[in-house]
Amino acid sequence: MGLANCPECGKLYVENAAGICPECYRKQEDDAEKVVEYLRDVDKATLEEIHQATGVKHKIILRLLHSGRIMGTAISYPCETCGTLIDQGRLCDKCSKNILEQMKPEERKQEQEPQSPTIKTRSRMYGNLEKDHFK
Ligand SMILES: [Zn+2]
Ligand SMILES: [Zn+2]
Repeated sequence: MGLANCPECGKLYVENAAGICPECYRKQEDDAEKVVEYLRDVDKATLEEIHQATGVKHKIILRLLHSGRIMGTAISYPCETCGTLIDQGRLCDKCSKNILEQMKPEERKQEQEPQSPTIKTRSRMYGNLEKDHFK
């Protein structure tokens, strides 16, 4: 643990588990309280609605959401790529599919060379693994 610049305010602070300076940490806890308080009476909300009602930054609300601090309320927030409202993960279905499709060509290239010794060894390895797994 040493000194670091706080990613929120840029001030020098002694590194801690929270990763931000105590001042910003306290502020974020206040913000978290506000958000949790607001959501207590709501079944579902969008990120924008929460932001409007509490004045808390989108970034902080998202962090709360991804760290599991917000529960019991369905929150919609924009997909990180296209902005479509989603309520789980970081990307909408369409964008996750796009990413999967971008990855496919490489897989196919490997499958086209079944005679390659590496692949043979590998499938043998996987075969053994599977057997072990089902014991
Ligand atoms: Zn700070
Ligand atoms: Zn998207």
